[in-house]
Amino acid sequence: MQRIFSAYQQRTSQLSKSTHPFAKGVAWIAGDLVPLQEAKIPLMDQGFLHSDLTYDVPAVWDGRFFRLHDHLDRFELSCGKIRLRLPISKAEIKDILVRMVSESGIRDAFVELICTRGMQGVRDQMMSTGPPAPHNLYLFITPYIWVMQPELQLKGTGSAIVARTVRRTPPGAFDPTVKNLQWGDLTRGMFEAADRGAQYPFLTDGDGNLTEGSGFNVVIIKHNVFYTPDRGVLQGVTRKSVMEVARKLGYEVRLEVVPVELCYRADEIFMCTTAGGVMPITSLDGEKVGDGKVGPVTRKVWDGYWEMHYDPKLSFAIEYQTKSKL
Ligand SMILES: *Cc1c(COP(=O)(O)O)cnc(C)c1O
Repeated sequence: MQRIFSAYQQRTSQLSKSTHPFAKGVAWIAGDLVPLQEAKIPLMDQGFLHSDLTYDVPAVWDGRFFRLHDHLDRFELSCGKIRLRLPISKAEIKDILVRMVSESGIRDAFVELICTRGMQGVRDQMMSTGPPAPHNLYLFITPYIWVMQPELQLKGTGSAIVARTVRRTPPGAFDPTVKNLQWGDLTRGMFEAADRGAQYPFLTDGDGNLTEGSGFNVVIIKHNVFYTPDRGVLQGVTRKSVMEVARKLGYEVRLEVVPVELCYRADEIFMCTTAGGVMPITSLDGEKVGDGKVGPVTRKVWDGYWEMHYDPKLSFAIEYQTKSKL
């Protein structure tokens, strides 16, 4: 774990010396590239007014785009499920993203794609006889974001609670397989976690089963078997990677209904998301998970996950333009 983070920290300190206007982030809005701090969206965009949008977050690690196609495919599928159309093709989006990363010089990037309903609400769209107004696409990248800081992952001090005051929005209200920013339930969970002295909330489905947390999937390990909920959650790309690593290491992985009670009997627990990777949880509801340290299985998965980022079948290298300016 230590080696991966040290190399990352070196790259980050290199980037912090850059004076390039995109070094702290860059956005693509209506065809223009602008420094992230200056980026603006129109007030009347339905994405802002009604959270009528979907988004996705791939990442760049050590100068390589990781599983971009998985993210673009999920993004397009999400659009289809809520009747949005991407205004440009996935191939064009890929080209623009690569250009943004390349020009910025950012070697470890958090990348966000957002597609909104645009300037015409659903009703206007239904009643309009003219050609439909285009849906809006916004892209931005920033230096890599950690849902759990590397130091905390190393120390193994991640703490979570099972939220009692809020449940996950049910699939019959909003389809959780569409990555979305209707974060009311997740935000409430985050406040509850803080109130109860923990860092992260795990939400249930209201019927005693685990779902997910504020931007991450949850994986439980018991007797060397991996358990993660098959419904009521986003189908995370990180979780997919983790399941591939686990199966390769010879572990059984079960994608099924996970009773929340299993969390309290877990040997190990970790959360996973693109923005942070495999994040060990060693305390749940104030009690130790297992022996209260990062477990051996989690460590193996953690290593396997970051190694995967160099697999040419899953990632590709970016040619940077700004070497001389760094
Ligand atoms: C983004 C997100 C995840 C993690 O998905 P990845 O594809 O692994 O980044 C899990 N749950 C929710 C609610 C999310 O928004």
